[in-house]
Amino acid sequence: MNKPNLLTLDDALEQLTVHAQPLLDTEIVSTFDADARILADDVVSELDLPAFDNSAMDGYALSFYDVKAADGVLQAGQRIAAGHFPKALQPGQADRIFTGAPVPEGADTVVMQEDCELLADGRVKILSQPVKGQCIRLRGEDISCGQKVLLRGHRLTPASLGLAASLGLASLCVARRPRVAVFSTGDELIMPGTVNPADLPPGAIFNSNRFFLKALLERLGCVVTDAGILPDKLESTRHAFALAAGSHDLLLTSGGVSVGEEDHVKPAIQSLGELELWALAIKPGKPFAYGRIRQNPVQSVHFIGLPGNPVSSLVTFILLVRPFVLRLQGATQTEPESYAMRADFAWSKADKRREFLRVKRNTAGGLDLFNNQSSGVLTSAVWGDGLLDNPSGQIVKPGDMVRYIPFLSGFS
Ligand code: AMP
Ligand code: MG
Repeated sequence: MNKPNLLTLDDALEQLTVHAQPLLDTEIVSTFDADARILADDVVSELDLPAFDNSAMDGYALSFYDVKAADGVLQAGQRIAAGHFPKALQPGQADRIFTGAPVPEGADTVVMQEDCELLADGRVKILSQPVKGQCIRLRGEDISCGQKVLLRGHRLTPASLGLAASLGLASLCVARRPRVAVFSTGDELIMPGTVNPADLPPGAIFNSNRFFLKALLERLGCVVTDAGILPDKLESTRHAFALAAGSHDLLLTSGGVSVGEEDHVKPAIQSLGELELWALAIKPGKPFAYGRIRQNPVQSVHFIGLPGNPVSSLVTFILLVRPFVLRLQGATQTEPESYAMRADFAWSKADKRREFLRVKRNTAGGLDLFNNQSSGVLTSAVWGDGLLDNPSGQIVKPGDMVRYIPFLSGFS
């Protein structure tokens, strides 16, 4: 039998990108609940931020020239706390001011209280020569009215929620959450909780993929249906897919997509739509499938089949499914982040395929390698904090600069 042509990761990503057209529906959610959602509209500021000149310190607001003119000793003026609007500063005076309080008209400088002394006669002595304009946060220095502050396609972070709130936005327009049904395949799979670990029948294994796939999808904003383990029969597999297609945007399976395997996923999807089985030129994660289930002549639902080996499933999720579901939500940043880092180990087994090795950052600024890179060893992904993207045919020597992709890129 001829070996199938391997598809490069970049070609696979390109093809998937064409299929992953953004879902058009949007929803308005409270800014409180919008973390990690994808903005569907630009956020434009309706005010200057800060909205008024205010003090960056507890201290005294004064006129820079008055300090020199009065030989550093000024009359104490009004007291200005945050949230209060002051009168104008009187010539020769220093107004007591607190952090965040509006700077009074006529003041151009704030001196922090540690550099001031309140004299017994009630006057204020400025102990060090200030710099004009110091300790004042100027109106509009962060954002000006009318400025585009967050762009459509931005994945909201805790900091961006805070920024939106500081502009007075109690709600945000975001992309609808994709609905994803997760299926497992394989007669060997047993759900944790149904059998005591000590009583696991010979040849059986606990279903692990289902747990991390659900968690990964949820971190990416998806609503996940746990669609269970697919029965080993074509008709029931077909039925399960057809049923799930009615209420989901994506059906995701793991296992049963190895080339040449006797399985029911392939004929089931083919009878409901179309399916492409790919052999990816990456390790782990060679078998991968993309398909569509037709609902009617104009609408169809996405299907993605991941390899069964847990690390292969995880790696292909990060490299291919993550960009796919982010794109469904209209995200602009869909590629995993990557960084140039120093390898603190040797990898002498150059592979024909592009390899994604499980590694961990060390405190010396380099990467360590997990000692077992088998695609079934999930421990490697728990020990590690990311992947080393090693080009095909390449060995790694200690000190080499390599491309590192953190697991939690965009997930946290
Ligand atoms: P397959 O791609 O179906 O040939 O599966 C490859 C390997 O992954 C086999 O050792 C399976 O037992 C294992 N596997 C498949 N699905 C799962 C799953 N949901 N959880 C854990 N291991 C799995
Ligand atoms: Mg299987």
